[in-house]
Amino acid sequence: MIIFLALIIHWYFSLFGQTFFLHRYGAHKMFTMSKFWEKFFYIFAWVTQGSSYLNPRAYAILHRMHHAYSDTEKDPHTPHFFKEVFTMMMHTKKIYNDVLNKRVVVDEKFDRDFPEYPAIDRIADSWYTRISFGVLYTVFYWQFATHWWMFLFLPIHYLMGPIHGAIVNWAGHKYGYRNHNEGDKSKNTLFWDILMMGELFQNNHHHAGSKPNFANKWFEFDPTYPVILLFDKLHIIKLAKVRSK
Ligand SMILES: [Zn+2]
Ligand SMILES: [Zn+2]
Repeated sequence: MIIFLALIIHWYFSLFGQTFFLHRYGAHKMFTMSKFWEKFFYIFAWVTQGSSYLNPRAYAILHRMHHAYSDTEKDPHTPHFFKEVFTMMMHTKKIYNDVLNKRVVVDEKFDRDFPEYPAIDRIADSWYTRISFGVLYTVFYWQFATHWWMFLFLPIHYLMGPIHGAIVNWAGHKYGYRNHNEGDKSKNTLFWDILMMGELFQNNHHHAGSKPNFANKWFEFDPTYPVILLFDKLHIIKLAKVRSK
């Protein structure tokens, strides 16, 4: 029971760090927040991603490229040039590492206006820290797993970020329905995106990239949006005025 609870909590906290902070704030600036809260959520995203920490600058750049070049050869992660998801993820990883280590020239329009804390990155991005998180997950399982097969869930903790990325980037541009005729192959995969906290409304999101609610129709539900509204009410964030497309 404790193992399942830990898996669910880790899954959703890490996902929230990604969709709320890295994606909707870092890459799209759908809302603003004070430096205090920015640092708070930067650390939140790091700790909840743990061993699979994603650098917010590299995330923002790759994600902005994804929007600009959606499902073309310049898209860092389109499923339409790969036979299976693993090869696509390896391709994305290579671009991510090149951007992260400044080995490629990045278009200036992508390379600005993102949260950046090099001092935190130095700790979060080191192998020492990543492996420590991995050891922590393993010790936790060692303590609380009541059956051997529960250990089969451990790799999900090690690779939480890339697993989320793989599901969204593959399924979100391949399986589902479309509300908007964008020039790409983006899809809405689920009506109620409980699994990925709204990230699987790719078609809606590509249609209106700065809209904080990824659900468009009355039957759709984006679980992150009520949290954003709550944070806005509590003055943790300030919603930006939505520009209509
Ligand atoms: Zn997309
Ligand atoms: Zn986006």
